[in-house]
Amino acid sequence: MFKKILVANRGEIALRIMQTCREMGISTVAVYSTVDAESMHVKYADEAVCIGPALSRESYLNIPRIIAAAEVTNADAIHPGYGFLAENADFAEVCASVNIKFIGPTATMINQMGDKNTAKSTMIFAGVPVVPGSPGLVTDLQQAIETAKRTGYPVIIKPTAGGGGKGMRVVTEDSQMEKALNTARSEAEQSFGNSGVYIEKYLENPRHVEIQILSDQHGNTIQLGERDCTVQRRHQKLIEETPSPVVDEALRKKMGDAAVAAARAINYEGAGTIEFLLDKHKDFFFMEMNTRIQVEHPVTEERYDVDLVKEQILIAAGESIKDRAFVPKGHSIECRINAEDPEHSFRPSPGQLQVFHTPGGHGVRVDSHAYASYVVPSNYDSMIAKLIVTAHSREEAIARMSRALDEFIVVGVKTTIPFHKQVMHSPVFQSGDFDTSFLESFRFEKK
Ligand code: ADP
Repeated sequence: MFKKILVANRGEIALRIMQTCREMGISTVAVYSTVDAESMHVKYADEAVCIGPALSRESYLNIPRIIAAAEVTNADAIHPGYGFLAENADFAEVCASVNIKFIGPTATMINQMGDKNTAKSTMIFAGVPVVPGSPGLVTDLQQAIETAKRTGYPVIIKPTAGGGGKGMRVVTEDSQMEKALNTARSEAEQSFGNSGVYIEKYLENPRHVEIQILSDQHGNTIQLGERDCTVQRRHQKLIEETPSPVVDEALRKKMGDAAVAAARAINYEGAGTIEFLLDKHKDFFFMEMNTRIQVEHPVTEERYDVDLVKEQILIAAGESIKDRAFVPKGHSIECRINAEDPEHSFRPSPGQLQVFHTPGGHGVRVDSHAYASYVVPSNYDSMIAKLIVTAHSREEAIARMSRALDEFIVVGVKTTIPFHKQVMHSPVFQSGDFDTSFLESFRFEKK
């Protein structure tokens, strides 16, 4: 087993990984940028190394500095968390070349799945249904229009290196295509350093349902059910739950089998998520694979009574999952608590927290790096906590989430807490019958 793990990340996920390390008797190394000097992950780690200024490129995305920090502290493994370098094949490669175990898949596997367009081709080969669209990257207008003709409008232009719901464009007719294609390509270049885009049929009224898988180094893959991430704002997830209100045992098995086939197709190693869109006929289509731990992993942990970070570490150390059995129980929901102002189109609200009082009690979990007096920096993403509740049924879980949100008090910055409270009370959310456009028609009542 590893003796010391460097966590190449910040915020709640860095802390969450270190908590598991501590339970496993593994020492931890934090890396941090100068604005994060007072951050909880720095205080919590056994050792901490400052790797540069706030700008991600100079710190959390700076491979040489992170590797130097690992070498100086003698870390034998690196956990990348999510975001930053988590799906960067070069980083995985460099780790391997200096004999530090990257806790995750190899560079080859990341390459096969990280680029979303290549991933789709891999999946077609594995017999997994994919969203219909362009056979490869789209570079010119003629190709784009031909694809749209074949699939029918509306279509969506997506960056192949994309993530976080950024840079996607819906097109409803030929006349919009040229402009949309040009802006999508230049936005993709700006955000991801890769101008490659591809085109998909824009499915109407789908749900986002993803399957958690674990694969070990011995060829075993298991699936841990679905997460329903249909509640999104501008293609970004806000609330996730498991089980999905629309997935029954037969569909779960079918989607699970497809996810396992997807992972097997690339001899995958580690924890991964296969994202699908599910249409109203209960047909599902592969969208992408995330080759890392996801933000919303805790709902699976709660329902399946499993520590997914521990599983990642055990798999990286070469353990087998062959005889592992995970039995699901209950219903789990996560709300992302962001430092954003829901009264002003969710604009970021950085600043110092004067009060940070978290809810507790039966069935409540809070994953957060925040504390009273902590300053939420403006440099990184705005999530300050994840509130996760678990109960016997969906109805009880919603009631529990409502009361936990009522107990959650944050003073100093605006948060998404009041927004989540209203969603929990919404009859549409409670009915379970909605699609990814749900929040477009949801009216947030300003107080
Ligand atoms: P990212 O990796 O940036 O999060 P995804 O490919 O996962 O992007 O898509 C994010 C969300 O955008 C999906 O959950 C879904 O709501 C919407 N979306 C993406 N592709 C399609 C599509 N072909 N049809 C309908 N909605 C889509």
